[in-house]
Order: sequence, then structure tokens, then C-alpha cells
Amino acid sequence: MRRGTDVPELVERARKADPRAVARLISLVENDSPVLREIASALAPFGGHAQVVGLTGSPGVGKSTSTSALVGALRAAGKRVGVLAVDPSSPFSGGALLGDRVRMQDHATDDGVFIRSMASRGQLGGLSAAVPQALRVLDAAGCDVVLIETVGVGQAEVEIASLADTTMVLLAPGMGDGIQAAKAGILEIADIFVVNKADRDGADQVARDLRYMQSLGGRHSEAGAWRPPIVKTVAARGEGIDQVVEAIAKHRAWMDEHGELSRRRRARAASEIEAIALGQVKLRFGQVHGSAALDAAAARVVDGSTDPYAAAEELVAAL
Ligand code: GDP
Repeated sequence: MRRGTDVPELVERARKADPRAVARLISLVENDSPVLREIASALAPFGGHAQVVGLTGSPGVGKSTSTSALVGALRAAGKRVGVLAVDPSSPFSGGALLGDRVRMQDHATDDGVFIRSMASRGQLGGLSAAVPQALRVLDAAGCDVVLIETVGVGQAEVEIASLADTTMVLLAPGMGDGIQAAKAGILEIADIFVVNKADRDGADQVARDLRYMQSLGGRHSEAGAWRPPIVKTVAARGEGIDQVVEAIAKHRAWMDEHGELSRRRRARAASEIEAIALGQVKLRFGQVHGSAALDAAAARVVDGSTDPYAAAEELVAAL
């Protein structure tokens, strides 16, 4: 911890949308700073305003291009916007990385936009712990919408999507995406489908495939359920982006109307609390038993004088 981190002052400045205070707070929560608890407590009353929108899809589908186009459209509509570019496979965090992501430079000098990249390597608790805290900072700073863009690949995409109020799944022609999407189970998590690169052959086919898959059922086929719209875009030219913004707003309205927003947020808070609690239990386990007690128990399991369940029960009971 830097000496004299004045958390109340930082939070106050962040609430006035001071970009330096926002950046500093995100760094602090991301690095599991000793003042994390104080920050979490100070931010608690100021949350719940921002709609968190996750963008997922295969690399190259156009997430970064779409994010930038969406920022432009949302800014034009007078919204304050946060962007978290999350790369679960990169060791680099901070603002600098996004300098490489040229499209974002259009927004670099706009004080209604906060852009931040986050990475996970080497962090205690990983990204799943840090991202919700960063979201709270952006929320407190008055963002109307926060876009979470996953940069890397893999399971983390789905994990990050679970942090969002609204999840957009991007597909594009020529990427075998229809099958990929089904495989990864991301069809189930999508609130909005975006078929990007609609300037290319095959976009209509991708949209048709999606519509066909939707017709086969799933959670969206129940009465009164939200039916994820399929929006075609040419993100590189900004085409269709207004329709995406409209779909985001419609989904928000639908969630508000059906109590879905608070349901999702409670579910999210529950898994967050659970993760923190389990982390604390693990820490406590280490403090109470150390490696010696664990070694001793392990030896007893190996020589057959006890079984691993009984040994674990004993150690847990001693907490
Ligand atoms: P990401 O990896 O999902 O973030 O994808 P990017 O946004 O980096 O885009 C990958 C490539 O596709 C880049 O070369 C973009 O310029 C290009 N691209 C993005 N949107 C479109 C589009 O609508 N049409 C076409 N033809 N290319 C696009």
C-alpha cells in the first residue's frame, strides 16, 4: 500500500468522474491492495446504476471493433461509458495496453469514457475476483453502460459473461461459428446475437442458422421469455450499431419489467460472496493447520490409518 491512500477522497473524486481517481481505484482493487476492504465498503452505497454489457465471441469476430463503435454510439446518445477489456491470458494490466488497440484511441481524449484493460496472471483470486470490483468503481463513477470485452479465448469468456447484466454473443460468417457457439454453450448465455461482418457472404446464413437453433427451444422458448434478437452489423463501418444499442436498451427494459435485473444481480452477488468466503476459509485453513498438520494427516491416509474424508473432516472441524 502506498502510504496515505486516502480512500474516501479517492472515492469522492471518482464519483465526480475524475479519470485519475477511477484509474487509481481500479489499480488498487485489481492488485488486491490492503485498502481493498475499505474501498469496497466506501463504494457499496453507489452501485446499481450501470448496465453491464458483456461481449463474447471467437477471436477475430470483431469484438474490439464493435466495442469501439458501441462506445461512439452510446456517447452520441449522451451516455457515460466504461470499457473493461479483459484478457485472462495476459500478464499485463493497466491503461497502456489499450494504446495498442488502435480503434480505442478515438475515445482516448473523451472524458465521458473510461477505458481499462485487466489481466489475471499472478493475481490473487484472479480476474473473477477483480472484475466485479472494477465494475463497482466504474458504476460509482456514473457510467450508464459498462462494456466488458473479453480479449482472450476459452472458458473465461463464459465466466466473464456471467458478470454481465446483458450478454452479447458475436458471430461472423466464415468462422465455423454456428457450430463453435453451440459447442461452447454460448447460445444459452446470449441475450443478444450480433452477426458481424455482414458485408461478407454467409452472414444471412449465420443468422438463419441462429434462428433455426432458437426455434429448437431452450430457455428462451418459454412464454414471456426474452427472445434474443439477432442483429446484423458491419462494425468496421458502424452499420447496425444503432440497432445493437437499441437491443441493449430493450433488454434492460425487459429485465426491469420482469425483475430479471435484480435476480441476476443477486445471483452474481451470491457467487461473489461465496468465492470470498471460500477464499477466507482456505486462508484460515492454512493459518490454523499449516503444512505440518496437513502432512501428518496425509501420512495417516497413506499408511491406511484413516481415510481422506475423515482426515478432512477433522481438519475442518478444528477451524
Ligand atoms: P476481435 O478479435 O473479436 O476483437 O476482432 P477485431 O475487432 O480485432 O476484428 C478482427 C478483424 O476483423 C479486424 O481486421 C477488423 O478490422 C475486421 N472487422 C471487424 N468488423 C468487421 C466488419 O464488419 N466487416 C469486415 N469485413 N471486417 C471487420
